[in-house]
Amino acid sequence: MKTPTHTLKSYITDVQDFPKKGIVFKDITSLLQSPEAVSLCLESLLSELKDKKIDKVVAIEARGFFFGMLLAQTLNVPFFPVRKPGKLPRKVVSQSFDLEYGSDILELHEDAIKSGDKVLIHDDVLATGGTAEAVCKMVESLGGQIVQCNFIMKLNFLEGFKKIQSYPIYAALTY
Ligand code: AMP
Repeated sequence: MKTPTHTLKSYITDVQDFPKKGIVFKDITSLLQSPEAVSLCLESLLSELKDKKIDKVVAIEARGFFFGMLLAQTLNVPFFPVRKPGKLPRKVVSQSFDLEYGSDILELHEDAIKSGDKVLIHDDVLATGGTAEAVCKMVESLGGQIVQCNFIMKLNFLEGFKKIQSYPIYAALTY
């Protein structure tokens, strides 16, 4: 039987050796081309938020913005982008972290989160978990409470869930 998960998985394209040899890149642009798949994915992400109060959605540059914005708009709450250094125009908090391929710094506007805000964090892929962990740290440093970290997919073989295991995690797809 073709389940929604089966259907959704069929829209993810595996790209071998991108951006470096040995990495299988999970390309979601093929999913974004299908309104049906976008709806399925959004429904899946929302299904695990039904009884949860969310004040704000924080999503991670750049592929986290697609569903992060859809989630915020559907939940009728404000959206806050996490960006690479130098992109946000006002005062920021920054956090450095290790990636599956390299290291980086992320930033969030300092006034994005108020103490006690219930925050949903979204990104496209949970791989080694360094990115999501960095964002959790920034949100908590501003006093936010993380209600859930959600992802289009998590790559369990990279064990990123271990880095953010103190927070509820949901992924529409698991590999
Ligand atoms: P990580 O910090 O290792 O969990 O990496 C998460 C970030 O890197 C996400 O923002 C993803 O967009 C990207 N990423 C890492 N690995 C992959 C992959 N195999 N396929 C697609 N995106 C990836």
